[in-house]
Amino acid sequence: MSDHLTIVKHPLVQHKLTLMRKSSTPTALFRQLLREISQLLAYEITRDLDTIQRSIETPLTRMDSPELSGRKLALISILRAGNGLLDGMLELIPSARVGFVGLYRDEETLQPIQYYFKVPESLEERMVIAVDPMLATGNSSVAAINLLKKAGAKNISFLCLLAAPEGVKTMKNAHPDVKIVTAALDSHLNDQGYIVPGLGDAGDRMFGTK
Ligand code: URA
Repeated sequence: MSDHLTIVKHPLVQHKLTLMRKSSTPTALFRQLLREISQLLAYEITRDLDTIQRSIETPLTRMDSPELSGRKLALISILRAGNGLLDGMLELIPSARVGFVGLYRDEETLQPIQYYFKVPESLEERMVIAVDPMLATGNSSVAAINLLKKAGAKNISFLCLLAAPEGVKTMKNAHPDVKIVTAALDSHLNDQGYIVPGLGDAGDRMFGTK
């Protein structure tokens, strides 16, 4: 583990991840676990948010107490699987602004091509958290973060459920300033680009497609 990569080893995170990995876990439970785990990962990734002391009145007395300060966070879902992490995170951070990045892979060049991009204004003043459950090759995550930086984002973190060493390396080379938070660093990618041991296709498992 390094400053660049944080693996959240909390027993609740690890237990929920084990249930998600099992091929016998049905769609509804998978979705519920993803929602729960996204909140625990969001807790970790937001631990350095700025706060400001505010003077408030409790039923008993006045006191100075911390509140979040600065512009609202921006959560950026990398479509489509990123949406599975968004719901839980928005329950925890209901005033966050939300953006979406859609990329597909050109079959000839194998390069990610943008098909959708809509993000909150003033990205340069916000903490930006890009979310995608699986950091596999890292190519689409790097491309998404390129787009976010082009749109002005300066303070970007990346939240995923599972990472492969290949993806972490690609991200670190392209974006050493982007901190990654994940629940596990798995062994490797297989020939089809799946994370091993992994949990399969995260989008298919959360949306019940195949
Ligand atoms: N995307 C997935 O959904 N699963 C993987 O294992 C790799 C990429």
